[in-house]
Amino acid sequence: MTIENVRQVKTVWSNGEWQLHIVCNHEIEAESPGDETVGIDLGISNFAAVSYSTGDHELYPGNALKTDERYFAKEIAKCKSSRSNKALRLRRKRAERRSHYLHAVTKHIVTECVERGVGTIAVGNLEGVRGDGKTGEARDWGDRGNEGLHRWAFNRFTNLLTYKAKIEGIAVVVVSERDTSKTCSCCGQKRDANRVERGLYICHGCGAAMNADSNGAENIRRRLDQAEKVILNPRSSGDRSSGRVARPVVNLFRRREYDHSCGQGTFTQQVSSCKP
Ligand SMILES: [Zn+2]
Repeated sequence: MTIENVRQVKTVWSNGEWQLHIVCNHEIEAESPGDETVGIDLGISNFAAVSYSTGDHELYPGNALKTDERYFAKEIAKCKSSRSNKALRLRRKRAERRSHYLHAVTKHIVTECVERGVGTIAVGNLEGVRGDGKTGEARDWGDRGNEGLHRWAFNRFTNLLTYKAKIEGIAVVVVSERDTSKTCSCCGQKRDANRVERGLYICHGCGAAMNADSNGAENIRRRLDQAEKVILNPRSSGDRSSGRVARPVVNLFRRREYDHSCGQGTFTQQVSSCKP
């Protein structure tokens, strides 16, 4: 056995004998599941909108997080002191539940990616996260001014996703989110007349009506395709069809318990209808 990339060595006294514990960096080399791509748009009403090059679109509604944020903010406010044991316990619980949710979402997305032969995931960066008018509502969980949570959730999500994807041989790339919510993923045009109403993106050029977050996710995915195609095949053009963008699959997160304790849960799928 060869030991490489040693990070830490310690001697541990255990059950009457000395043990040498060696912590190493271990490179995982997994084969990529395929050449398909996916774009992920992070937001508030939908925590994540996911658009696959296979034509599938999925949404992860943010209610699970939103409900928690409201509940814990209220309970913490009731505490006599923000440094009381009860307040500390509530904060710890909230952190655990956020963490559970992010683990569950990233795990679910990576599993879906493997099934669809995805080799590269594009995640939109934070540029548009506050007040972009994409869904017509503030991209905010409950209280105003919790921008720190957005940043935290985005970083944590991206880290967990990158780590889980790498094990499966999938690369994660952060791309610019600029204009991805304003551009029509059907005809590729960015028009001032195009607008978002009740979560629908409506294009005046081609008449497409799509879930606004799914449209953003598809544009984020295209950003990756465009960048790659410039190098790989400058003449190829993507297949632009809005058929399935209009009806994304919604992954509802259901907690196993409703007493605001551990926060573990699972996803159930339903097909959304989004008629204008
Ligand atoms: Zn259009």
